[in-house]
Amino acid sequence: MAETPDPSRQHLETRAIRAGRSDDDPALAPTLVPSTTFVTPTVEEGRRRATRIGETRFYSRYGNPTVKAFEDAVADLEGAESARAFSSGMGAVSAVVLGLCSAGDHIVAQRQLYAGTQLLLQAACPRFGIDVTFVDGTQPGAFAEAVRPGKTVLVVAETPANPQLDLVDLAELGAIAGPMTVVDSTFATPLAQRPLEHGVDLVVHSATKALGGHNDASLGVVAGSDELLQWLWGFAVLQGANASPFDAMNGLRGLRTLGVRIERQSATALRVAEALEAHPAVAQVRYPGLPSHPQHELARRQMDVFGGLIAFDLAGGLAAGCRFVESTVVAQLATSLGGPETLVTHPASTTHVSLTPDELEAAGIRPGTIRLSVGLEHADDVIADILAALDGLDAPSA
Ligand SMILES: *Cc1c(COP(=O)(O)O)cnc(C)c1O
Repeated sequence: MAETPDPSRQHLETRAIRAGRSDDDPALAPTLVPSTTFVTPTVEEGRRRATRIGETRFYSRYGNPTVKAFEDAVADLEGAESARAFSSGMGAVSAVVLGLCSAGDHIVAQRQLYAGTQLLLQAACPRFGIDVTFVDGTQPGAFAEAVRPGKTVLVVAETPANPQLDLVDLAELGAIAGPMTVVDSTFATPLAQRPLEHGVDLVVHSATKALGGHNDASLGVVAGSDELLQWLWGFAVLQGANASPFDAMNGLRGLRTLGVRIERQSATALRVAEALEAHPAVAQVRYPGLPSHPQHELARRQMDVFGGLIAFDLAGGLAAGCRFVESTVVAQLATSLGGPETLVTHPASTTHVSLTPDELEAAGIRPGTIRLSVGLEHADDVIADILAALDGLDAPSA
């Protein structure tokens, strides 16, 4: 007789299909439980539910069955004991930072970060007496050198990072002794890399992006050990940024197709990146899968696929950047990433418009920097669209 296959040894693409779903629920699709509260049979049972960590049938800020299914699914894919979902990626990031750090504590963070995370660390943390040191996350040993023994409680990293797809060496990060380490793995997804396997303590995602994958769910998630997640849960219940069951259901729907989506987006992105690199209007292309990426070797070591995000600089600067994002047709001008639609953003004229040229440069954004999130359209159509927009940059403006 054949042995029953061990689900934990199946490929991630396979596990993603049923992850978070209970074997005794005959429903194939995730079940939406919108109820904010649950009838409690006795006072004694009410007391138990009010104090049990992660309880899903007490009050929805504490936990919810649909949200729990999404949390279990992400924990499974990340190889974590536990996970907690939030109403956004920033809900997850702020729970980690404010839930784990206190006045007098020190954080080491990389300079290359999602703008929201960077502002939280740079502007909000000092208000709470939390000191933050920023380092260049691409430099070997930079995080460890900035750790103050007994003072540093958290090391914050993001890889691949906004906006120039810089990478952090996960093995090096995981080897840091003392402080807790957290990686924002939004750009990669567990299909590309699993930071916990490298000894990192916590992984966070804006599941609004590739995990949800359809631009219809605002979600964040943190995964790690039971012990850390229990601690975080205590703060999260007070923070109140709990995920909506509807968004969690859409998140579970998205996870089932994560494998094919990431594979397709990665394959298209490599072709797009090569086409960009060959075009004279493009000064520089950043894609971890290109041999020209300064950390390509590291990318090959720690990533299984290279994802759908590309950054590139137009030789024509600000004017060319504005013109490019307004002339693509398949690629639409919108913030966010990881969804079915190919999206472009021009940070210097939109998200980062208030920055001075020096501040832009420090943030890794040049006047002609474009961020491209490759979607699920046919690669030939995406490439034709981008090449047409690049060719049009030379033409006199209408
Ligand atoms: C979008 C994003 C976030 C914030 O997520 P929200 O869901 O928008 O709150 C955090 N980190 C990264 C890398 C992101 O791309």
